[in-house]
Amino acid sequence: MLDEIACRCEATGCERQLDDGNCQLVFRTEGGERRAYECACGHVTVTVAAPSKG
Ligand SMILES: [Zn+2]
Repeated sequence: MLDEIACRCEATGCERQLDDGNCQLVFRTEGGERRAYECACGHVTVTVAAPSKG
C-alpha cells in the first residue's frame, strides 16, 4: 500500500508538488481521510485517501 500520496497544487499554472509540510488540516469522513494542503501560491488543495485497515 502507499503511505504517501503525491499531489500537486490544483491552481491553474501552478502544479507545485505538495507534501506533508504543506498539509494544514487532516480530517476523516465516511469516504476516507481528507487532507487540505495550502500551497505557497495560496491555493488550497484537498485530497482524499481511502481509509487504512487496522
Ligand atoms: Zn499553488
